[in-house]
Amino acid sequence: MNINRGEFKENIKLKLKEQFGKTISCATKQEIFDAVSRAAMDYVLDNWLDTKKTYAEEEVKQAYYLSAEFLMGRALSNNLVNMLIEEDVAEVLNELGFNYNEVEDTEPDAGLGNGGLGRLAACFLDSLASLKLPGHGYGIRYRYGMFEQKIIDGYQVEFPDNWLKNGDPWSVKRKDESIEIKFGGKVTLVREENGRERFKRVDAEVITAVPYDMPIVGYNNKTVNTLRLWEAEAEDGFDLQLFNDQEYIKAMSKESITEDISRVLYPNDSGPSGKALRLKQQYFFVSASVQDIVRNYKKKYGNDFSKFAEKVAMQLNDTHPVVAIPELMRIFLDWEGLNWDTAWDITTKACAYTNHTILAEALEKWPIDLFSGLLPRIYQIVEEINRRFLAELNEKYPGDWARTHRMGIIADGMVKMAWLAIVGSHSVNGVAALHTEILKNQELKDWYELYPEKFNNKTNGVTQRRWLLKSNKELAKLLNEKIGTDWAINLSELKKFEKFIDDEEVVNRFMKIKYENKVKLAEYIKEHNNIDVDPNSIFDVQVKRLHEYKRQLLDVLNIMALYNRLKENPDLDIYPRTFIFGAKAASGYRRAKLVIKLINSIANKINNDQSIKGKIKVVFIENYRVSVAEKIFPASDVSEQISTAGKEASGTGNMKFMINGALTIGTLDGANVEIVEEAGEENAFIFGLKADEVLELNKTNSYNPWDEYNRNLELKKVIDQLVDGTYSPDNREIFRELYDSLMYGVEGNRPDQYYVLRDFASYAEAQRKIGATYRDKIDWAKKAMINVANGGKFSSDRTIQQYADEIWEIKATEVK
Ligand SMILES: *Cc1c(COP(=O)(O)O)cnc(C)c1O
Repeated sequence: MNINRGEFKENIKLKLKEQFGKTISCATKQEIFDAVSRAAMDYVLDNWLDTKKTYAEEEVKQAYYLSAEFLMGRALSNNLVNMLIEEDVAEVLNELGFNYNEVEDTEPDAGLGNGGLGRLAACFLDSLASLKLPGHGYGIRYRYGMFEQKIIDGYQVEFPDNWLKNGDPWSVKRKDESIEIKFGGKVTLVREENGRERFKRVDAEVITAVPYDMPIVGYNNKTVNTLRLWEAEAEDGFDLQLFNDQEYIKAMSKESITEDISRVLYPNDSGPSGKALRLKQQYFFVSASVQDIVRNYKKKYGNDFSKFAEKVAMQLNDTHPVVAIPELMRIFLDWEGLNWDTAWDITTKACAYTNHTILAEALEKWPIDLFSGLLPRIYQIVEEINRRFLAELNEKYPGDWARTHRMGIIADGMVKMAWLAIVGSHSVNGVAALHTEILKNQELKDWYELYPEKFNNKTNGVTQRRWLLKSNKELAKLLNEKIGTDWAINLSELKKFEKFIDDEEVVNRFMKIKYENKVKLAEYIKEHNNIDVDPNSIFDVQVKRLHEYKRQLLDVLNIMALYNRLKENPDLDIYPRTFIFGAKAASGYRRAKLVIKLINSIANKINNDQSIKGKIKVVFIENYRVSVAEKIFPASDVSEQISTAGKEASGTGNMKFMINGALTIGTLDGANVEIVEEAGEENAFIFGLKADEVLELNKTNSYNPWDEYNRNLELKKVIDQLVDGTYSPDNREIFRELYDSLMYGVEGNRPDQYYVLRDFASYAEAQRKIGATYRDKIDWAKKAMINVANGGKFSSDRTIQQYADEIWEIKATEVK
């Protein structure tokens, strides 16, 4: 789109005056951010209204992505890029005496998610709008998003993420579209005048869900879809009766109890919290969203629900929103008077479920008394779903009680959300080819046998607009020059870049761009960590949530071994390396937090040891989040994707590295398998156990880490160093738990359940190859270019088009 710079400038001044009563000369950068955002929002609003109008008039089918997490990051720069006006705005700001990048940096991340699952939801919204597809997001407007991580004395310390403290120019509150949500109370049967019986909830706690809408701006088109996030508000703010009884403080406190529901994001990545408040959050946003969807449907199509599944698709992002299934049933049965079979048919056709994890402990289940106490009517409906399902099962497998027990939606005193999701959906998908196969053949084998037609794969992707066009501007420019600009909306165009590996000028420019990006990251590290890192060294990066299955510890043990080698032989000729980590640990995940302490301890020792002449450096980048990720990927040479094979469902960080020209060192896990398929095994460093080998070792229980320890002196030494005070001279016991979990197993787990020691030697060998390969910088750059050129598959545009065609049946719609 085109903007008139003069007009835009005046608009910024106007917003500044309206919002802060200020003129340019005394405005802060943060205030300028607010004013610029509001000025840009004026342009967005017209398209937003037109988009809604077009969808309504053309009666198109719309998809709704229900997700407890949306890890959006910053909005300003992303929206300006998609509107093609970022340069204009930067220039306008310049004329006003402000630096665009500094203004951009004042925007807090909308960090309403933990990691990959939440970021996927954000990439999907970008792709939907950019492909002109009618698809929207529904979630929770957490008052506090993902905690801010500070490293104090080497330990992670969590601080609240008060992302709304300066307001939110990118949200529009729609108080008039608020919805009532009911918790607790009793279910009674009432007889209506026509003689029909109907269930009614009485004595329930009523909470108001207030929607805040964020515009999702499509790339270079008129489409603006909606991310609707719900905030909990107390009905009146205070209890009038208590107020009249002179109980002022008590009366006012009701507000804060109610608003607890949307107060904070649970910081558990791929694992349930098991907390009642979490279930309350889930039902809160799901009930509001489903009621909203039905309300919108009725506005257009009245009370005839026969077309509901032709107009509405709901995608359940993991099990968190799965109460949508009984909630939709409740509305159809209790409010709209549909019979069970009709309601069930529509519900299963409208709902689809995405599974995100193979970790058994991550499958959500709720104790019956908690679930039925909070959601009594929903529980009744789940009981009936289960009763009918078990009857169906008994017909198919008569007498197979073991199977019935395994597959019961309600069993062992629990309500099993994944089972409910599979029964109540027409589609069940995994997020990478290997992951879907593991679901079908192992984790969900029973279910695949019963419903083979439901299972399908949708390999994850990332949006190239944010992760390349916006964050790696110089590489984007080179691509535009050499292969045209279509890659921004059709990533398979990148393939055309491959032929330039033989063009010396292009290879040199590619290398220079990577180098400049590394210089910038080195500056960031100097400013934030006060560590000098050499941009000529190999930037070897592992950024992702801290989890044992992701095996940051394997990376650390290899660094410790490398350091030992250098200590023994200071003249050892290794290519200089900078090992960069970024990771948040769940606040209650003690062992993960201990790994962060270990990384910082080895960093402290290695970075300050003059004897190794700066050949290796270790950096822990604090508070890893989307806006920092955008600075890291473009500056990376090596992408660490080293999870225990079979454990990482897909990974998406791996894809962001690839399209920014980093080479993968990884196991054949998740989407790494497909990345290597596309890039060629010779352009990656693959090592370690395969998923089927891990499975076999698990089955036969035949693995003993002491075998590895005893046959590998280098490994023995680094394991011993965990507890001999090398990295914790004041208290050699600090890392004892890590040692014990590797060598003995703790809390009922087997020793080294993630096969760190088993994969150590082959990882170290792959690492050695990296050092050797990097010596030929031209050859390395060619491999990096081949990775970029073959990254086309990993656009979330491809993923979303598959969801649209194969699950949702929604169509691109030109906004009028
Ligand atoms: C992409 C991304 C992730 C997911 O990374 P994985 O390596 O796939 O686990 C997590 N956090 C942020 C901030 C991201 O941008």
